[in-house]
Amino acid sequence: MLFFLIVAGALWGIGHLMGAPKQARLYMIGLLYVAVLAVQIVLPMGHPLREATGGSPALWLLLGAALALALVYRWVLRRVRGRALALEAAREASTPARPQGPFSDEELERYARHITLPDIGGGGQLALKNARVLVVGAGGLGSPALLYLGAAGVGQIGIIDADQVSLSNLQRQVIHTDQGQGMPKVFSAQNAIAALNPRVDVRPYHRALTEDIAATLFADFDLILDGTDSYDTRAMINRAAVEAGRPVVAGAISAWEGQVTIYDPAGGAPCLSCVFPQAPDPDMAATCAETGVIGALPGVVGSMMALEAIKDIAGAGTGLRGRLLIYDALRAETRSIKVKRRADCPVCGSI
Ligand SMILES: [Zn+2]
Repeated sequence: MLFFLIVAGALWGIGHLMGAPKQARLYMIGLLYVAVLAVQIVLPMGHPLREATGGSPALWLLLGAALALALVYRWVLRRVRGRALALEAAREASTPARPQGPFSDEELERYARHITLPDIGGGGQLALKNARVLVVGAGGLGSPALLYLGAAGVGQIGIIDADQVSLSNLQRQVIHTDQGQGMPKVFSAQNAIAALNPRVDVRPYHRALTEDIAATLFADFDLILDGTDSYDTRAMINRAAVEAGRPVVAGAISAWEGQVTIYDPAGGAPCLSCVFPQAPDPDMAATCAETGVIGALPGVVGSMMALEAIKDIAGAGTGLRGRLLIYDALRAETRSIKVKRRADCPVCGSI
């Protein structure tokens, strides 16, 4: 018996060292058992090999029977356990799934401070999730507007801008980074929104907005944010938005002063052309590059644009339709003036 155990142990150890699977090693030991049993049966009594392996087949037969019994017991146990697991799986499959709301647990936590607000709530947050907003210009005004729209959970955000990030942008265009210099602004902004809220579907358009694509592009979105800085571009956005029937949240900044309003002739508010029918005097129309602009001002005005967009989508409070909000940053004063549609407006007069 000792001899058998030593040989079996050696087989197991060598098999292990050679990386043989457990089943192969058990098979080898099984063969050894058969060989020993054959020695006991075939060799005559008193043969040295037969004596060395116990002298009688009875002990080996008993050992074999015990082993066979243990294997049968294990097989039966496995069958019973397998049946129990199958029954449990079948029960789970037949249990109806928990009804799913419009938000995942992660979204409920992310937007908890919105959902708590009575003026936003679950309905307002769902409207944001289903909204499609296009931001024209990923510069000073577009930067904070895009970040807050993304953080707020606007489902789809389009960005159109032909520029690349340059060093002089970084004093106020906070969506871009020092490492992002030279990168198209739309992709730099897309990366920042994805880092903040990966659930937002960002559509970057790295090109200038032109008359021939504006109305078609606008029709794919519910709301337009105008963060551009030239009257001609604003006038083009205005014409396309009126044609597509889309409201425009418009922001403008110059040096220390900012303005925000919502142009929406279809909603009873004037369009840009009603309020500013002509391009301003070239001396008055200087861009930020020419006059300079205080860094945090586009932050304030761009954030107001995002806030007005969020209110508009969620149906919260009173928006800026028919009112132009003016922020004088140097004096720390705000005022709002009423603005009206003009019946003879060349852009929206016929609506
Ligand atoms: Zn008009």
